Amino acid sequence: MIKCIRRVQFCAGHRVWKHENKCAHLHGHNYVALLHATAPQLDALGRIVDFSYLKESIGAWIESHWDHGFILYEKDTEGIEALQRIAGQRLYLMQENPTAENMAAHLLHVVAPRELRGTEVQVVKVELWETENCYAEASL
Ligand SMILES: [Zn+2]
Repeated sequence: MIKCIRRVQFCAGHRVWKHENKCAHLHGHNYVALLHATAPQLDALGRIVDFSYLKESIGAWIESHWDHGFILYEKDTEGIEALQRIAGQRLYLMQENPTAENMAAHLLHVVAPRELRGTEVQVVKVELWETENCYAEASL
């Protein structure tokens, strides 16, 4: 299999609901998402897809929904209420706790198929780096 991998960097806040330790506090990361894409065949120029396409589709979704926003679990009513007091604060609610694992899975299973609809390109793996030392990976 040939894959192409697009790196997308973004800044976002979150907290891990009911975390046993410091991740229960509202805090942020300089996240890096690595989008691993493939297609049934290469195009006439020998590409899976132009790298810029991944940036303009999935990258644009990340930029408008997650970048410089907070990502919270929809059951985290205390966190949601606190952030909703700030006018205009970008807030993205997830059906799961916003861990790196769940965020990677969300990009893989929800965002990528929707943003790439109508193309033969498929994201088969997402790595979501929270720090230089920690990342989670979701794959088909
Ligand atoms: Zn964190």
